[in-house]
Amino acid sequence: MDSSPFKIVIASKNLGKIAEFKRILGEVGISIITDIEFPDVDESGSTFEENALLKAHAISRYTNLPALADDSGLAVDYLGGAPGIFSARWSGVHGDDGANIKRLLEDLNGVSLENRGAKFIAVLALVRPDGEELLVRGELRGKIRNQPVGVNGFGYDPIFEPENSDRTLGEMSAAEKDAISHRSKALTELTPRIRPFLSRR
Ligand code: IMP
Repeated sequence: MDSSPFKIVIASKNLGKIAEFKRILGEVGISIITDIEFPDVDESGSTFEENALLKAHAISRYTNLPALADDSGLAVDYLGGAPGIFSARWSGVHGDDGANIKRLLEDLNGVSLENRGAKFIAVLALVRPDGEELLVRGELRGKIRNQPVGVNGFGYDPIFEPENSDRTLGEMSAAEKDAISHRSKALTELTPRIRPFLSRR
């Protein structure tokens, strides 16, 4: 039975992300609630911050609990920051990782490795039922490979080689990814602030 007074609903249905949140937040005594059904939220914002806040506010209102939402994506230098907030639906089909990778590789067809710089961005929004907000951002720089390598992770992991590495995220274990990822950087900044934020009047 879960006795932590600090409970947060994760405003996401992405199983890959939920698993990452659980691994990291579970270690610091924050209970994660994922078994509540909630409606999809229209991601109509024009920045990661706006979209994360839209989701967190909607789910916090709906559940009357603090809600944590993330909006994340891949920003490729050569494409002026695209796919950015459209990362999950870059191929036109939401959440089709294989099709999204294919489209991105086509966009970068013929572009040399030194011009394939990119970064993953994760913005986390924690919102209380009274509407108070907390926002943090984490980034991971790297480059886009010519071909997918590795089967681990999700999304663009098999084509993303983080800086200071010679492997893709798709070749790394969950623990290796957690040690460097944009989402865990954002979470590392967020975690010490969660309890004060939830306790504050
Ligand atoms: P969101 O659910 O709107 O935040 O969409 C994020 C999308 O960005 C995902 O569907 C992936 O395509 C991509 N993405 C975000 N974080 C990661 C990651 O850690 N690895 C690989 N792809 C990611």
